[in-house]
Amino acid sequence: MSRYIGRFAPTPSGPLHFGSLVTALASWLDARAAHGQWLLRVEDIDPPRCPPGADSEIKRQLEAFGLHWDSDVAYQHDRAPAYEQALDRLIAIDIAYPCTCSRKEWQTHAIYPGWCRNGVCAPERSCAYRLRTDTVFNEITWQDRRLGRQSWRFDALGDVVLKRRDGLWAYQLAVVVDDAAQGITDVVRGIDLLDNTPWQRLLQHALGLPEPRYLHLPLIVARNGQKLSKQNLAPPLPHHGKSINTLLHKALIALNQKPPSELRHAPPRLQLESALTHWSTAAIGQSNKRVIPAS
Ligand code: GLU
Ligand code: ZN
Repeated sequence: MSRYIGRFAPTPSGPLHFGSLVTALASWLDARAAHGQWLLRVEDIDPPRCPPGADSEIKRQLEAFGLHWDSDVAYQHDRAPAYEQALDRLIAIDIAYPCTCSRKEWQTHAIYPGWCRNGVCAPERSCAYRLRTDTVFNEITWQDRRLGRQSWRFDALGDVVLKRRDGLWAYQLAVVVDDAAQGITDVVRGIDLLDNTPWQRLLQHALGLPEPRYLHLPLIVARNGQKLSKQNLAPPLPHHGKSINTLLHKALIALNQKPPSELRHAPPRLQLESALTHWSTAAIGQSNKRVIPAS
């Protein structure tokens, strides 16, 4: 029985780009090197942001790079009952509360000031639900596998939304419920999510769920220093053709895995085999930004 279950959890708001490849690759290598499972979860809780077919495109891209997943693909769009149950529990233990404030009303504050903690401000309005961060701990600490000890204060983070006023589920609650439901032991993901982890650990604690290990990867930036994202039109990964091989080689370089240069044009299967025998999380290193390697 494997004691490692990892996952890749893309939001299907568009095709994967080089930054997502680095994340998928690192989590795949970490899982396979541990003889663990690697699951794919499509985080499609925000349908207006997810064009139809983006999930199939993502699957084609992962397969083209040899990143095969175990079990059936999980989707968040049909998980509402589980999220509802978790929210009900949080409300019952006073860790979640309804909030009717609009962003505009608190925009002069750095974070939501908690006005509805002891009763909603505007009962006639529809409400969101927020996580109460002023009760359990002021601070949360954990060990990140790359960055070491993390210590974050909730008074700087605030009461995050768990369910939106328009009725859509928020990422923080969905990710925690699904990581637990899928038995995820190891989360390997981008450092852009590091400041979300405190809320997720708080939710795991409040719901009595196991706490996975975390490894947050450096951010991949373009040569002009910009973060790669769908918004700034990072090129989508191909799902056929020779450029797959060189892109995979570059992704291994970005993770400091020192792939042999003679494998630069080799098919994914050979590159991944070699990378697996050398996989080292320590080699990734401490710097939090990586420029896409030049060809
Ligand atoms: N769905 C999130 C994203 O694409 C990642 C979630 C996670 O890895 O926790 O940014
Ligand atoms: Zn409020």
